[in-house]
Amino acid sequence: MDINLAQINDLFKQANELVLTTHIHPDGDALGSLLALNGYLSLQGKKVTMLLDDDIPSTYRFLPGCDRIRRPSGRQTKPDLLVVLDASDVERIGGVYQEVKAPVLNIDHHVSNTRFADYLYLDDTAAATGEILCDLFVHVEAALSLDMASCLYTAIATDCGFFRYANTSAKTMRYGASLLEAGVKPNLISEQLETKPLSSIKTLTEVLKTLELHQENKIALITVTPEIAKDNDDLTEGLINYPRNIEGVELAIMLKAASPDTIRVSLRSRSIDVSRLALSFGGGGHARAAGCTIHGSLAAAKEKILSAAARMMVGKC
Ligand code: AMP
Ligand code: MN
Ligand code: MN
Repeated sequence: MDINLAQINDLFKQANELVLTTHIHPDGDALGSLLALNGYLSLQGKKVTMLLDDDIPSTYRFLPGCDRIRRPSGRQTKPDLLVVLDASDVERIGGVYQEVKAPVLNIDHHVSNTRFADYLYLDDTAAATGEILCDLFVHVEAALSLDMASCLYTAIATDCGFFRYANTSAKTMRYGASLLEAGVKPNLISEQLETKPLSSIKTLTEVLKTLELHQENKIALITVTPEIAKDNDDLTEGLINYPRNIEGVELAIMLKAASPDTIRVSLRSRSIDVSRLALSFGGGGHARAAGCTIHGSLAAAKEKILSAAARMMVGKC
Protein backbone atom coordinates (compact mmCIF):
# COMPACT_ATOMS: atom_id res chain seq x y z
CA MET A 1 0.00 0.00 0.00
CA ASP A 2 1.14 3.56 -0.75
CA ILE A 3 1.89 5.63 2.31
CA ASN A 4 2.87 9.24 2.96
CA LEU A 5 5.70 10.79 4.96
CA ALA A 6 3.62 10.99 8.16
CA GLN A 7 2.86 7.28 7.86
CA ILE A 8 6.55 6.47 7.37
CA ASN A 9 7.18 8.30 10.61
CA ASP A 10 4.39 6.32 12.32
CA LEU A 11 5.98 3.06 11.16
CA PHE A 12 9.33 4.21 12.56
CA LYS A 13 7.73 5.21 15.88
CA GLN A 14 6.05 1.81 16.25
CA ALA A 15 9.24 -0.16 15.49
CA ASN A 16 12.00 -0.73 18.01
CA GLU A 17 14.19 -3.00 15.96
CA LEU A 18 14.78 -2.18 12.29
CA VAL A 19 16.89 -3.62 9.51
CA LEU A 20 17.85 -1.23 6.71
CA THR A 21 19.04 -2.38 3.34
CA THR A 22 19.63 -1.19 -0.20
CA HIS A 23 20.40 -2.54 -3.66
CA ILE A 24 23.33 -4.71 -4.63
CA HIS A 25 26.02 -3.02 -6.77
CA PRO A 26 25.41 -0.06 -4.48
CA ASP A 27 25.89 3.48 -5.73
CA GLY A 28 26.19 6.79 -3.89
CA ASP A 29 22.42 7.14 -3.43
CA ALA A 30 22.06 3.60 -2.10
CA LEU A 31 24.85 3.93 0.47
CA GLY A 32 24.30 7.59 1.34
CA SER A 33 20.58 6.98 1.95
CA LEU A 34 21.24 3.84 3.99
CA LEU A 35 23.74 5.62 6.24
CA ALA A 36 21.68 8.80 6.63
CA LEU A 37 18.56 6.87 7.67
CA ASN A 38 20.66 4.74 10.01
CA GLY A 39 21.93 7.97 11.60
CA TYR A 40 18.41 9.34 12.09
CA LEU A 41 16.92 6.15 13.54
CA SER A 42 19.91 5.52 15.79
CA LEU A 43 19.47 9.03 17.22
CA GLN A 44 15.83 8.08 17.96
CA GLY A 45 17.17 5.28 20.18
CA LYS A 46 16.16 2.49 17.77
CA LYS A 47 18.08 -0.74 17.39
CA VAL A 48 19.19 -0.52 13.77
CA THR A 49 21.12 -3.00 11.64
CA MET A 50 22.35 -2.17 8.15
CA LEU A 51 22.61 -5.22 5.87
CA LEU A 52 23.87 -5.26 2.29
CA ASP A 53 24.37 -8.38 0.19
CA ASP A 54 27.41 -7.02 -1.65
CA ASP A 55 30.81 -5.40 -1.24
CA ILE A 56 31.09 -1.67 -0.77
CA PRO A 57 32.98 -0.09 -3.69
CA SER A 58 36.22 1.53 -2.50
CA THR A 59 35.04 4.93 -3.83
CA TYR A 60 32.33 5.07 -1.16
CA ARG A 61 34.25 3.76 1.81
CA PHE A 62 34.89 7.32 3.00
CA LEU A 63 31.20 7.67 3.91
CA PRO A 64 30.89 7.94 7.69
CA GLY A 65 29.45 4.77 9.23
CA CYS A 66 30.24 2.55 6.22
CA ASP A 67 32.18 0.12 8.41
CA ARG A 68 28.96 -0.70 10.29
CA ILE A 69 27.23 -2.09 7.17
CA ARG A 70 27.19 -5.88 7.44
CA ARG A 71 26.68 -8.73 4.97
CA PRO A 72 23.69 -11.05 5.59
CA SER A 73 24.84 -14.02 7.68
CA GLY A 74 22.24 -16.57 6.53
CA ARG A 75 20.61 -16.64 9.98
CA GLN A 76 16.93 -15.60 9.95
CA THR A 77 15.96 -12.53 11.98
CA LYS A 78 12.57 -11.05 12.84
CA PRO A 79 12.90 -7.31 13.43
CA ASP A 80 9.83 -5.04 13.54
CA LEU A 81 10.48 -3.49 10.12
CA LEU A 82 12.68 -4.04 7.05
CA VAL A 83 13.37 -0.76 5.24
CA VAL A 84 14.44 -1.14 1.60
CA LEU A 85 16.02 2.00 0.15
CA ASP A 86 16.59 2.93 -3.51
CA ALA A 87 15.65 -0.55 -4.78
CA SER A 88 12.82 -1.04 -7.23
CA ASP A 89 12.43 -4.79 -6.97
CA VAL A 90 13.06 -7.47 -4.44
CA GLU A 91 15.82 -9.26 -6.38
CA ARG A 92 17.89 -6.09 -6.01
CA ILE A 93 18.43 -6.70 -2.28
CA GLY A 94 19.80 -10.23 -2.76
CA GLY A 95 19.79 -12.54 0.25
CA VAL A 96 18.52 -9.92 2.71
CA TYR A 97 14.93 -10.66 1.74
CA GLN A 98 15.18 -14.36 2.69
CA GLU A 99 17.00 -13.61 5.92
CA VAL A 100 14.85 -10.82 7.34
CA LYS A 101 11.26 -11.76 8.10
CA ALA A 102 9.43 -8.49 8.76
CA PRO A 103 6.94 -6.10 7.17
CA VAL A 104 8.71 -4.28 4.34
CA LEU A 105 8.80 -0.50 3.86
CA ASN A 106 10.24 0.50 0.47
CA ILE A 107 11.38 4.10 -0.06
CA ASP A 108 12.28 4.59 -3.70
CA HIS A 109 12.36 6.88 -6.72
CA HIS A 110 12.52 4.41 -9.64
CA VAL A 111 9.71 4.69 -12.19
CA SER A 112 10.13 0.92 -12.73
CA ASN A 113 9.23 0.05 -9.10
CA THR A 114 7.49 -3.35 -8.95
CA ARG A 115 5.48 -2.52 -5.79
CA PHE A 116 6.81 -5.55 -3.90
CA ALA A 117 6.66 -3.96 -0.45
CA ASP A 118 3.93 -3.95 2.20
CA TYR A 119 4.36 -0.18 2.52
CA LEU A 120 5.60 1.88 -0.42
CA TYR A 121 6.74 5.48 -0.57
CA LEU A 122 7.53 6.08 -4.25
CA ASP A 123 8.38 9.49 -5.66
CA ASP A 124 9.67 9.15 -9.19
CA THR A 125 10.10 12.91 -9.45
CA ALA A 126 12.77 12.83 -6.75
CA ALA A 127 16.31 12.99 -8.13
CA ALA A 128 17.47 10.49 -5.51
CA THR A 129 16.22 8.43 -2.61
CA GLY A 130 18.37 10.83 -0.56
CA GLU A 131 16.07 13.64 -1.71
CA ILE A 132 13.04 11.73 -0.37
CA LEU A 133 14.85 11.32 2.95
CA CYS A 134 15.42 15.09 2.99
CA ASP A 135 11.63 15.50 2.54
CA LEU A 136 11.12 13.11 5.45
CA PHE A 137 13.65 14.84 7.69
CA VAL A 138 12.05 18.23 6.96
CA HIS A 139 8.63 16.72 7.74
CA VAL A 140 9.73 15.34 11.11
CA GLU A 141 11.96 18.36 11.82
CA ALA A 142 14.98 16.13 12.34
CA ALA A 143 18.27 17.73 13.31
CA LEU A 144 20.92 16.64 10.81
CA SER A 145 24.40 15.73 12.05
CA LEU A 146 27.28 16.62 9.73
CA ASP A 147 27.73 12.90 9.02
CA MET A 148 24.09 12.53 7.99
CA ALA A 149 24.29 15.66 5.85
CA SER A 150 27.44 14.37 4.10
CA CYS A 151 25.70 11.08 3.33
CA LEU A 152 22.59 12.85 2.01
CA TYR A 153 24.68 15.20 -0.12
CA THR A 154 26.56 12.24 -1.62
CA ALA A 155 23.27 10.41 -2.25
CA ILE A 156 21.67 13.34 -4.06
CA ALA A 157 24.72 14.66 -5.91
CA THR A 158 25.78 11.30 -7.33
CA ASP A 159 22.29 10.43 -8.64
CA CYS A 160 21.81 13.79 -10.40
CA GLY A 161 25.33 14.03 -11.83
CA PHE A 162 26.22 16.79 -9.40
CA PHE A 163 23.11 18.83 -10.25
CA ARG A 164 23.50 18.51 -14.03
CA TYR A 165 21.05 15.78 -15.14
CA ALA A 166 17.40 16.24 -16.15
CA ASN A 167 16.25 14.87 -12.77
CA THR A 168 17.75 17.93 -11.02
CA SER A 169 14.89 20.14 -9.84
CA ALA A 170 14.86 23.43 -7.98
CA LYS A 171 14.09 21.37 -4.87
CA THR A 172 17.13 19.16 -5.50
CA MET A 173 19.30 22.28 -5.56
CA ARG A 174 17.62 23.73 -2.47
CA TYR A 175 18.43 20.56 -0.58
CA GLY A 176 22.00 20.80 -1.87
CA ALA A 177 22.15 24.32 -0.40
CA SER A 178 20.62 23.22 2.94
CA LEU A 179 23.17 20.43 3.23
CA LEU A 180 25.99 22.93 2.67
CA GLU A 181 24.42 25.07 5.41
CA ALA A 182 24.59 21.99 7.64
CA GLY A 183 28.37 21.99 7.10
CA VAL A 184 28.96 19.76 4.07
CA LYS A 185 32.04 20.72 2.06
CA PRO A 186 31.19 19.77 -1.56
CA ASN A 187 34.81 19.98 -2.68
CA LEU A 188 35.88 17.41 -0.08
CA ILE A 189 33.14 14.99 -1.13
CA SER A 190 33.92 15.42 -4.84
CA GLU A 191 37.60 14.88 -4.13
CA GLN A 192 36.83 11.60 -2.37
CA LEU A 193 34.62 10.45 -5.22
CA GLU A 194 36.90 11.57 -8.05
CA THR A 195 40.27 10.42 -6.75
CA LYS A 196 40.93 7.04 -8.30
CA PRO A 197 43.80 4.59 -8.17
CA LEU A 198 46.10 4.55 -11.19
CA SER A 199 44.67 1.16 -12.16
CA SER A 200 41.28 2.76 -12.83
CA ILE A 201 42.84 5.07 -15.46
CA LYS A 202 44.43 1.99 -17.05
CA THR A 203 41.00 0.32 -16.97
CA LEU A 204 39.55 3.38 -18.70
CA THR A 205 42.05 3.17 -21.57
CA GLU A 206 41.28 -0.54 -22.01
CA VAL A 207 37.53 0.00 -21.97
CA LEU A 208 37.63 2.91 -24.44
CA LYS A 209 39.35 0.64 -26.98
CA THR A 210 36.14 -1.43 -27.07
CA LEU A 211 33.95 1.48 -28.26
CA GLU A 212 31.54 0.51 -31.04
CA LEU A 213 28.92 2.60 -32.82
CA HIS A 214 25.67 1.20 -34.18
CA GLN A 215 22.44 2.43 -35.80
CA GLU A 216 24.09 5.24 -37.78
CA ASN A 217 26.16 6.30 -34.75
CA LYS A 218 23.07 6.77 -32.55
CA ILE A 219 24.03 3.89 -30.28
CA ALA A 220 27.48 3.82 -28.63
CA LEU A 221 28.53 0.68 -26.80
CA ILE A 222 31.50 -0.13 -24.59
CA THR A 223 32.42 -3.48 -23.11
CA VAL A 224 34.14 -4.39 -19.87
CA THR A 225 35.47 -7.83 -20.74
CA PRO A 226 36.08 -10.48 -18.06
CA GLU A 227 39.84 -9.75 -18.34
CA ILE A 228 39.28 -6.04 -17.69
CA ALA A 229 36.66 -6.67 -14.96
CA LYS A 230 39.01 -9.02 -13.11
CA ASP A 231 40.49 -7.14 -10.11
CA ASN A 232 38.82 -3.91 -11.28
CA ASP A 233 35.22 -4.69 -10.52
CA ASP A 234 34.48 -1.49 -8.63
CA LEU A 235 36.48 0.81 -10.91
CA THR A 236 34.07 0.97 -13.83
CA GLU A 237 31.45 3.33 -12.41
CA GLY A 238 31.08 6.43 -14.53
CA LEU A 239 32.66 4.91 -17.66
CA ILE A 240 29.24 4.92 -19.35
CA ASN A 241 29.51 8.71 -19.48
CA TYR A 242 32.15 8.48 -22.23
CA PRO A 243 29.83 6.92 -24.84
CA ARG A 244 26.91 8.94 -23.42
CA ASN A 245 28.67 12.22 -24.14
CA ILE A 246 29.51 11.54 -27.79
CA GLU A 247 27.82 14.04 -30.08
CA GLY A 248 24.78 12.55 -31.84
CA VAL A 249 24.58 9.48 -29.59
CA GLU A 250 21.03 8.82 -28.38
CA LEU A 251 21.71 5.66 -26.43
CA ALA A 252 24.83 4.57 -24.57
CA ILE A 253 25.29 0.98 -23.49
CA MET A 254 27.94 -0.53 -21.24
CA LEU A 255 28.24 -4.31 -21.05
CA LYS A 256 30.17 -5.62 -18.09
CA ALA A 257 30.99 -9.27 -17.63
CA ALA A 258 30.36 -9.90 -13.92
CA SER A 259 31.20 -13.51 -14.81
CA PRO A 260 31.64 -15.12 -18.27
CA ASP A 261 27.87 -15.74 -18.48
CA THR A 262 26.44 -12.92 -16.33
CA ILE A 263 26.44 -9.62 -18.16
CA ARG A 264 25.48 -6.42 -16.38
CA VAL A 265 24.08 -3.81 -18.70
CA SER A 266 24.06 -0.07 -18.05
CA LEU A 267 21.90 2.14 -20.23
CA ARG A 268 21.87 5.92 -20.66
CA SER A 269 19.81 7.90 -23.14
CA ARG A 270 19.02 11.36 -24.37
CA SER A 271 15.52 10.68 -25.65
CA ILE A 272 14.22 7.10 -25.40
CA ASP A 273 12.86 5.67 -22.15
CA VAL A 274 15.59 3.19 -21.20
CA SER A 275 13.72 2.05 -18.08
CA ARG A 276 11.34 0.24 -20.49
CA LEU A 277 14.25 -1.33 -22.34
CA ALA A 278 15.79 -2.47 -19.03
CA LEU A 279 12.42 -3.77 -17.77
CA SER A 280 12.07 -5.94 -20.87
CA PHE A 281 15.20 -7.77 -19.64
CA GLY A 282 13.98 -7.98 -16.03
CA GLY A 283 15.90 -4.86 -14.89
CA GLY A 284 14.72 -1.35 -14.24
CA GLY A 285 15.73 2.21 -13.49
CA HIS A 286 14.80 5.66 -14.73
CA ALA A 287 13.86 7.10 -18.14
CA ARG A 288 17.41 8.33 -18.83
CA ALA A 289 19.47 5.84 -16.73
CA ALA A 290 18.63 2.20 -16.28
CA GLY A 291 20.18 -1.24 -16.07
CA CYS A 292 19.60 -4.97 -16.24
CA THR A 293 21.44 -8.27 -16.09
CA ILE A 294 21.47 -10.65 -19.05
CA HIS A 295 22.49 -14.28 -18.61
CA GLY A 296 24.54 -15.67 -21.48
CA SER A 297 27.77 -14.86 -23.25
CA LEU A 298 28.95 -11.31 -23.89
CA ALA A 299 28.32 -11.77 -27.61
CA ALA A 300 24.76 -13.04 -27.03
CA ALA A 301 23.97 -10.23 -24.56
CA LYS A 302 25.27 -7.64 -27.03
CA GLU A 303 23.13 -9.07 -29.81
CA LYS A 304 20.01 -9.12 -27.62
CA ILE A 305 20.33 -5.60 -26.23
CA LEU A 306 21.31 -4.06 -29.58
CA SER A 307 18.37 -5.60 -31.41
CA ALA A 308 15.90 -4.64 -28.67
CA ALA A 309 17.32 -1.11 -28.63
CA ALA A 310 17.14 -0.84 -32.42
CA ARG A 311 13.47 -1.91 -32.33
CA MET A 312 12.72 0.69 -29.67
CA MET A 313 14.48 3.45 -31.56
CA VAL A 314 12.57 2.94 -34.80
CA GLY A 315 10.82 6.19 -35.54
CA LYS A 316 11.98 7.74 -32.27
CA CYS A 317 15.25 9.43 -33.23
P1 AMP B 1 23.71 1.80 -13.39
O1 AMP B 1 23.82 1.74 -14.87
O2 AMP B 1 24.15 0.53 -12.71
O3 AMP B 1 24.35 3.05 -12.83
O4 AMP B 1 22.15 1.92 -13.07
C1 AMP B 1 21.36 2.96 -13.58
C2 AMP B 1 20.00 2.94 -12.91
O5 AMP B 1 19.33 1.71 -13.24
C3 AMP B 1 20.06 3.00 -11.39
O6 AMP B 1 18.97 3.77 -10.94
C4 AMP B 1 19.90 1.55 -10.98
O7 AMP B 1 19.30 1.46 -9.71
C5 AMP B 1 19.02 0.97 -12.07
N1 AMP B 1 19.38 -0.43 -12.32
C6 AMP B 1 20.58 -0.90 -12.73
N2 AMP B 1 20.56 -2.25 -12.86
C7 AMP B 1 19.32 -2.65 -12.50
C8 AMP B 1 18.66 -3.93 -12.40
N3 AMP B 1 19.28 -5.09 -12.71
N4 AMP B 1 17.38 -3.95 -11.98
C9 AMP B 1 16.73 -2.80 -11.67
N5 AMP B 1 17.29 -1.57 -11.75
C10 AMP B 1 18.56 -1.48 -12.16
MN1 MN C 1 20.88 3.45 -6.76
MN1 MN D 1 18.79 6.33 -6.62
